[in-house]
Amino acid sequence: MSRTVYVNGDYVPEQEAKVSIFDRAFLMADGVYEVTSVLGGKLIDFDGHLARLQRSLDALEIPNPLGRAAWLAIHRRLVAENGIDDGLVYLQVTRGAPGDRDFAYPDPDTTAPTVVLFTQNKPGLADSAQARAGLKVITVEDIRWGRRDIKTVQLLYPSMAKMMAKKAGCDDAWMVEDGFVTEGTSNNAWIASGGKLVTRQRNTDILHGITRAAVMRCAAETGVGVEERPFTVAEAQAAEEAFITSASAFVMPVVAIDGAAVGAGVPGPVTRRLREIYLEEMRANAL
Ligand code: PMP
Repeated sequence: MSRTVYVNGDYVPEQEAKVSIFDRAFLMADGVYEVTSVLGGKLIDFDGHLARLQRSLDALEIPNPLGRAAWLAIHRRLVAENGIDDGLVYLQVTRGAPGDRDFAYPDPDTTAPTVVLFTQNKPGLADSAQARAGLKVITVEDIRWGRRDIKTVQLLYPSMAKMMAKKAGCDDAWMVEDGFVTEGTSNNAWIASGGKLVTRQRNTDILHGITRAAVMRCAAETGVGVEERPFTVAEAQAAEEAFITSASAFVMPVVAIDGAAVGAGVPGPVTRRLREIYLEEMRANAL
């Protein structure tokens, strides 16, 4: 069945949606995106994602074309029209289509940003087999650019790393720079060790995950300490537990890193509990 998608002010069937070949995102990856999960027909951490969208746009000097009420209305209409109970809403804002290819940014007064949103249906998103079994990850060198804190659509290396993981019979890859884990291909990396959680501190090396921030709050509420610092692959392999966080995976256990079992090689109690608390809090505050 065809979806209704949103393109530059219009709600259209997906086959009719059109974007210019001169769009800066198509030619130069000059665009940013957000992914917001939907559980029970409601948006999870919508305001967190909107705040990060603003941050990404500011970093690239792209004007935000819509206000909060309009963004929320579009999300809700797409969720309703496409009958999404569990799934996600993908949002992309690009610098627009100036009509020629040029490295210099076009004048924002004459070239409007391109706005595209669509839904993906994912029945049972919060009850996945992967969450019960845990993920196996490989590690790969992190060769991405230096502004990983901006959520751009420049996703080729994470995509290649994901394929390297699949070819190795694993689920995902953790990226490593100077011996320390930066993050997963599309998620933040965490370990639980000595009664504390450890995840890399926020700077330009990683994306500032919205789920990461929410899990930090959950940990604080439940009295679990969090250390924000880099950790090595060896430290992660020797940890009691490991997990990832992202808007669509929530809190997902990692049970093996480069073939070495983490802890007992099955999802651990800290990860399971954090996942429960996170989902409970997010469902309670969904929009
Ligand atoms: N790091 C990277 C590289 C990502 O692509 C993502 C997901 N977009 C995350 C972390 C997790 O961010 P969030 O929790 O906001 O989905």
